[in-house]
Amino acid sequence: MTKVRAYIGLGANIGDARATLTAAVHALAALPDAELAGVSRLYRTVPVGVTDQPDFHNAVAAVDVPEGSDAGGPIALLLALKSIERAFGRQERFRHGPRELDLDLLLFGVRQLSVERPAMARSADPAKTDILLRVPHPEAANRLFVLAPLADLVPDLIPPGWPESVARARARRESVEGAAAVRPIAAWNSAGGAWE
Ligand code: ADP
Ligand code: MG
Repeated sequence: MTKVRAYIGLGANIGDARATLTAAVHALAALPDAELAGVSRLYRTVPVGVTDQPDFHNAVAAVDVPEGSDAGGPIALLLALKSIERAFGRQERFRHGPRELDLDLLLFGVRQLSVERPAMARSADPAKTDILLRVPHPEAANRLFVLAPLADLVPDLIPPGWPESVARARARRESVEGAAAVRPIAAWNSAGGAWE
């Protein structure tokens, strides 16, 4: 079975975010035919957009998953991420608001795709996109809380459609958001399966 390396952005700011993200990494590793390939440091980050909410914890995990055919592989992974979010009690709230767990599909190998949501599955909330899945995640390049943990894993990678490496994008965003916006607080210990 051909595998592809996917990068998943993890975030939480309600409840015990560190425990939630740790359990979410284990849930990713336990997906069918998936293998955990790396986990970034854990970051404490200042909320972006809606600033009147608790700080976030963010990280990125690399997971090797079945390539699937056409858009099937990435969509299957997105649906698995959504089901893990629900299992961790994610409630529907407003966009960019607080959440128990957010899992975003940042990269799926070198694939670039944009898949429309079926009309019947569109949300009544006009703030929600009609795009079911876009990869690379369109906001990844503009968010230091994604770029910093991603740069822990693959600083020299140039994602498809980007003009620069992850490390350069990170440096650029850090000059905008300030170094204090994201602070590493722990490193992943793969033997222990936790950030320490
Ligand atoms: P946020 O943008 O704050 O993460 P949500 O997690 O609520 O918001 O995601 C909103 C929708 O974005 C999801 O229902 C999903 O269908 C869509 N989406 C599009 N591309 C992606 C992606 N690469 N990863 C995750 N969700 C995506
Ligand atoms: Mg999301």
